[in-house]
Amino acid sequence: MKMHFVRTTLILSQVVTSFSMALADKPNLIVIMADDLGYADVGFNGCRDIPTPHIDSIAENGVKFTSGYVLYAVCGPSRAGFITGRYEQRFGFERNPQYRPDDPNMGLPTDETTIAGSLSKVGYRCGVVGKWHLGANEVHHPLKRGFHQFFGHLGGDHRYMPEELTIKDSAAATDEAESYRTWILSDHTPVKTTRYLTDEFSNAAVSFVSSNKDYPFFLFLSYNAPHTPLQATTKYIDRFPNITDKKRKTYAAMVSAVDDGVGRVLSKLRELKLEDNTLVFFLSDNGGPTTRNGSRNTPLKGDKGDAWEGGYRVPFAARWPRGLPKGQAYNQPVSSLDIFATIAALSGAPTDPQRPLDGVNLIPYVTGKKNGPPHEAIYLRMFDSQKFAIRSGDHKLVIPARNVKPQLYDVTADVSESTNLATENPEILDELKQKLDAWTGELVEPRFSGLIHTPAFQKKQKNANRN
Ligand code: CA
Repeated sequence: MKMHFVRTTLILSQVVTSFSMALADKPNLIVIMADDLGYADVGFNGCRDIPTPHIDSIAENGVKFTSGYVLYAVCGPSRAGFITGRYEQRFGFERNPQYRPDDPNMGLPTDETTIAGSLSKVGYRCGVVGKWHLGANEVHHPLKRGFHQFFGHLGGDHRYMPEELTIKDSAAATDEAESYRTWILSDHTPVKTTRYLTDEFSNAAVSFVSSNKDYPFFLFLSYNAPHTPLQATTKYIDRFPNITDKKRKTYAAMVSAVDDGVGRVLSKLRELKLEDNTLVFFLSDNGGPTTRNGSRNTPLKGDKGDAWEGGYRVPFAARWPRGLPKGQAYNQPVSSLDIFATIAALSGAPTDPQRPLDGVNLIPYVTGKKNGPPHEAIYLRMFDSQKFAIRSGDHKLVIPARNVKPQLYDVTADVSESTNLATENPEILDELKQKLDAWTGELVEPRFSGLIHTPAFQKKQKNANRN
């Protein structure tokens, strides 16, 4: 009896030890997502007028993905795909949601699993700081979707200056314009913030890292910058005396504030000796809306909202000293879908077999253990505008607008999509069209009406068309 007890205790303690060792070995994950940042607006993609040394340090000490795609050319659907690791068109999140605290269907379906939901099952502490934009109803709140901490706003387009955040209760905002002015939520508690919003988010991110240093953690640092409204403090604007274009100047200041925040998070990792085993991704949620916020996507064609490369190929880099090479450029197409698949593979986090991930673990591809491209193809559908794209190898088929014939580009040789190769290559066009059709056959229609269906949005569109 006594022996049995001793043996049980021993086995139990071994289990506990191996569990805690496994926990210590699991890499932390930080995903820093900028909002509406142009492809060309980081130093690692050649930006000259806005220094981004801290963002660049992720690429310099890790990997720069030159063909990194997101799942949609506007915010909400792109984020829904990233956070579930699945094409969001599979579950009907294909529009920017309206801000509707009263509507449990206006957001990420609750039967989908988020990265946080999966990682929290293997001991991770998960936090989101910044923009959520995946639903404003209680069922969509980050704390209901696998996260343990939240500091941010539930909708999009938030204003940056503390004196403009005048609505205490997020649920009391009755339309989109009001939702941009709500107090920031700390979990469920409204907080009267006092600083420029980007700085508030950087502070919260640093504090999340400090307070969760003894766990494996996942931080989704979801800056709403440099999305409009274009607002920055003189501290950041004064860094750009040589930029004369007013829009670009404020935009540069906003990007610079994000870069400072990235620097502070990286420095905290270093200070806590967590740098070696923390996987950090940096990306934008969609391409730059160049005329709206002064961003640039060169040499890519098109803007936010487009099926051209400028709509959904974004600045994309990752750093993980323990497992990734340093200073490498990786040119095969990758996707924000791959972030979930990568961390699930590294951590042993469970995923839902009924809802298989669309991404792949990137690590063996980047380290050369696996050859060939990670994806047979990368897809895009934008239901309301009937824009489509499929990238497979060097080739891309694109339907850039409703009822326009499919076009074909070699986006490796012709990254600006300037020469349509469709007529000379009917076989390639046909093959890509068949793959695209097979993929769209797996999708559902959008499950909720979107921001585009609100009277305010329609009025704005009408005015824009008139101008
Ligand atoms: Ca965006």
